[in-house]
Amino acid sequence: MCKPDAVERGLIGEIVGRIERKGLRLVAAELRDVDRALAEEHYDEHREKPFFGELVTFLTRSPVFAMIVEGPSDDTWQLCRILIGQTKVTDAQPGSIRGDLATTTSENLVHGSDGPESAEREIKLWFGA
Ligand code: GDP
Repeated sequence: MCKPDAVERGLIGEIVGRIERKGLRLVAAELRDVDRALAEEHYDEHREKPFFGELVTFLTRSPVFAMIVEGPSDDTWQLCRILIGQTKVTDAQPGSIRGDLATTTSENLVHGSDGPESAEREIKLWFGA
């Protein structure tokens, strides 16, 4: 997902370009508004974290570009995580989306599923598939 900061900064093309140049492809995508219920469900695992409120406010701030990305095998989520880079912005390597384009951990441009189960859950949540 291109998060609100990525959409606001006009980085959808840059991010999709990196995904496509890697050899992955979009099989569904939608620019959409996010209400609080969807944002809270999406980040359910972080409900108890001190930054949860800030995270939900951020995700609902402006539209996101939600995507389903497909690759040749079932490790697509891992390939996406490599493209995205580490969560903590000071750990994100140059060459990754966050490493090249983000300056803060709270606004780090992209979300990616962190495993096959979360990918399945998030596809259902965002695309009802
Ligand atoms: P991700 O899977 O790499 O996106 O990382 P997580 O699932 O651990 O965290 C979800 C999102 O919460 C991150 O992408 C950041 O936008 C945000 N986040 C993580 N840690 C912090 C933090 O310490 N402070 C704030 N404000 N946001 C954070």
